[in-house]
Amino acid sequence: LESKEEFSHKTLAMDVMRPRRSDPPLSVITQDGMNVEEVESLIAETSYSGFPVVVSHESQRLVGFVQRRDLVISIDNARQRQEGVVSASRIFFTEYTPPQPPNSPPPLKLRGIMDLSPFTVTDHTAMDIVVDIFRKLGLRQCLVTHNGRLLGIITKKDILKHMAQMANRDPDSILFN
Ligand code: ADP
Repeated sequence: LESKEEFSHKTLAMDVMRPRRSDPPLSVITQDGMNVEEVESLIAETSYSGFPVVVSHESQRLVGFVQRRDLVISIDNARQRQEGVVSASRIFFTEYTPPQPPNSPPPLKLRGIMDLSPFTVTDHTAMDIVVDIFRKLGLRQCLVTHNGRLLGIITKKDILKHMAQMANRDPDSILFN
């Protein structure tokens, strides 16, 4: 077999990552642009285990990754205990919190619950390498970027599903995946 053929068979991170072309966009949190109510709705409307944090929707620059359960716990705690945190309180994942406009509720600072260096691969990374990294590092998820912009996410389950699909499909192609 030609090595070119082998290359054309190789599955890349972009083939396995979510969202798929037809899916709704990735659910992300902006580092300083959302309030408690908006993040609570995101949590209520989705069941994802975690959310990438980005600089802004426009830039899609990755800042970190926050686990769903840590968000839930922190927001609940803040609502119960932190003086004045309400639905309209702005959430900050940034290092510094700018002074809030007069008469606005106190901000909620959540940088502490964010993973500042979530594992990332580019969309052109071969899946065999991604699988290797998942195994060796015991990852649960990995983010996918292109030119520094966040494109998608691959979870451990996505990989297992992909492998099962490959096994069912074309026995020859498994060799290359
Ligand atoms: P699992 O894959 O273990 O079920 P999740 O519940 O986090 O883990 O993810 C379910 C599906 O949604 C997966 O296919 C995953 O790639 C995708 N996904 C995970 N997080 C997000 C997110 N924040 N936005 C969009 N899709 C996501």
